[in-house]
Amino acid sequence: MKIKGLIFDLDGVLVSTEKNHFTAWKKTAERLECDFTELDNEQLKGISRVDSLKKIIALTGTNVSPVEFDELLIFKNEIYLESIRELGPADALPGVVELLQQAKAHDIKLGVGSSSKNANAILELLQIKDLFDAIIDGNGVSAPKPDPEVFLNAARDMGLSAAECIVFEDAESGIMAAKAGGFKVIATGNPHVAELAHAYVETLIDFNLSIYEESF
Ligand SMILES: [Mg+2]
Repeated sequence: MKIKGLIFDLDGVLVSTEKNHFTAWKKTAERLECDFTELDNEQLKGISRVDSLKKIIALTGTNVSPVEFDELLIFKNEIYLESIRELGPADALPGVVELLQQAKAHDIKLGVGSSSKNANAILELLQIKDLFDAIIDGNGVSAPKPDPEVFLNAARDMGLSAAECIVFEDAESGIMAAKAGGFKVIATGNPHVAELAHAYVETLIDFNLSIYEESF
């Protein structure tokens, strides 16, 4: 099958904002007099902001009122948003820029399918936004992953069918979303989900377009 489009999840695939989330949660936990560690942070991967805060509060063993809870959520997001403003071109994950440029040179369309409401801003900071033909973010879908909507909308905006595209993902919900939409999906950066996808590459440096065209 000739591949005509590549669709990328954002966080964990094109960029990692894990450290930004960690720092923001650590400062939020400090307000609860909780010493939040990297190990604690492992438990927050792939879960929502509300559920993450619930877990941190459980760690402290204290109670917070609904008003305080909402304040803490806002506090965390403000610190996070402040910190991602410092992202730059050097923060794109290994192999990203090379793959995007290689694809462009072969007239392959490029898309982003992300749950992040900050996707456009982050792509701009990385200085890769102009390379994409379609960007669907958390503001442009009604059903979150594992619903395939985000990827189907990206393919539609690229003028392609799911069968003509490959999706790159690092999370289980995203892999399930891509499969549900009829896409081939390559997992990257997260060996725990490798088995769920059609193929796995540790980083995008390891992805070779011509090999995959033959095997799919
Ligand atoms: Mg991700």
